[in-house]
Amino acid sequence: MNKMSKLTDLTIAEALDGLAAKHFTSVELTDAHIAASEAARPLNAYITENFDAAREAAKASDARRAQGEAGALEGIPVGIKDLFCTEGVRTTAASHILDGFIPPYESTVSGKLKAAGTISLGKLNLDEFAMGSSNGTSYHGPVISPWKRTGSDVDLVPGGSSGGSAAIVAARGVMAATGTDTGGSIRQPAAFCGIVGLKPTYGRCSRWGIVAFASSLDQAGPMTRSVKDAALMLNSMAGFDPKDSTSANIAVPDFTKALTGDVRGLKVGVPAEYRVDGTSPEIVKLWDQGIDWLKQAGAEIVSVSLPHTKYALATYYIIAPAEASANLARYDGVRFGLRVPGNTLDEMYENTRAAGFGHEVQRRILIGTYVLSAGYYDAYYLKAQKVRALIADDFKKAFEQCDVLLTPTAPTPAFGLNEKNDDPIAMYLNDVFTVPASLAGLPGLAVPTGLSSDGLPLGLQILGRPFDEETVIRVGGVLETAAAFTARPTFGQGA
Ligand code: GLN
Repeated sequence: MNKMSKLTDLTIAEALDGLAAKHFTSVELTDAHIAASEAARPLNAYITENFDAAREAAKASDARRAQGEAGALEGIPVGIKDLFCTEGVRTTAASHILDGFIPPYESTVSGKLKAAGTISLGKLNLDEFAMGSSNGTSYHGPVISPWKRTGSDVDLVPGGSSGGSAAIVAARGVMAATGTDTGGSIRQPAAFCGIVGLKPTYGRCSRWGIVAFASSLDQAGPMTRSVKDAALMLNSMAGFDPKDSTSANIAVPDFTKALTGDVRGLKVGVPAEYRVDGTSPEIVKLWDQGIDWLKQAGAEIVSVSLPHTKYALATYYIIAPAEASANLARYDGVRFGLRVPGNTLDEMYENTRAAGFGHEVQRRILIGTYVLSAGYYDAYYLKAQKVRALIADDFKKAFEQCDVLLTPTAPTPAFGLNEKNDDPIAMYLNDVFTVPASLAGLPGLAVPTGLSSDGLPLGLQILGRPFDEETVIRVGGVLETAAAFTARPTFGQGA
């Protein structure tokens, strides 16, 4: 193995040590990841590559380090989901309607990562406006998973909506990427691609400068190849931001300190209602295995009940489109991006929005405006808000009996490209295990813990109390050690 391929195998924690010990420079580390990203181009993980700027940034990073001014993530190559506005760098949200949009400002989270010394290799592909579970709704084309089924050449989805982030982290093109999670978009693609995905508590990371999908649900988080790396990334991404009124003004601990390796005496809840029909038997088996691992590590397993789980998907697919329809009203051909002319102002709006939004986004706007409309507001939107409160209450009660919950992340391994594109309901079912925690605003961590019989990654999810990412990370670390997941995708050999 040559030096460069070794560099793309490192975790962030290892790379920071190597950089500090002068075993290599950020320029070398960045070059290795650029080469791996170039080799992974068939995956279509990037919407905008920024490799030249990255090389320059790496030089500046090495200079800072030489002067003793290294940030917490100094010199680490990362990718940014193209939902985060980046100053001077095209931001698309994977939509045609934002054509030509170059933000004059930087999102708080990407700005914090930059300030910590990370090197951005570019903007990563996603489902249009983060609506989807396969990365199939991107205007810039689908992302292809770096994984294949054993003995098969069929292209698979990386999951969504943070599909580009998951695929390029798994393919070793970057050491970490940002994701956003509204109903599962960090955790489900992490599970499909065999990486770690952490959705923090709602309010932990600022939403400022992130293109809005559903404002009461959207949350940024890290996607990495180890739990420790997720903790390192979150250290730099989290924190109060006066520019986001829902950002929480509470202290940010050093999340890596939570990785004690010790879960003795901790209570792990297993929700009966997550034994959902249609879940792959292999995933159910892995879940039982995960329960066993934690038990062997000294945790106490308790059965808990989340009785309103069965209403979570229906609730989410009312609330998320309702908020989306309001958020997306701003794309009118006047203020941002695309404009398709018409004879009147109304016609210009119609032409622009008809051409600019893809089918899934249009479907959500239609559903959203319908459930908010005068005659149906009480029957759908208001009802959904009430059920949302019941779901949150279920979790509150469960957390009186346990410290974390252990569940599967997604009901199946990755599916074939375009397999569910014409069946929105089948697509929405992917979110069955992730959406409830989103509705309750809770932190959730996806950890790769096994392989299906045909060689695809499977993950388990740990959910925690609000702002208790530390316990979630602690349990995640123990699960990661027990699972010892070392499988690599076809496109994961580095450069
Ligand atoms: N798959 C879900 C949806 O399509 C979640 C997306 C997300 O978390 N951004 O809405």
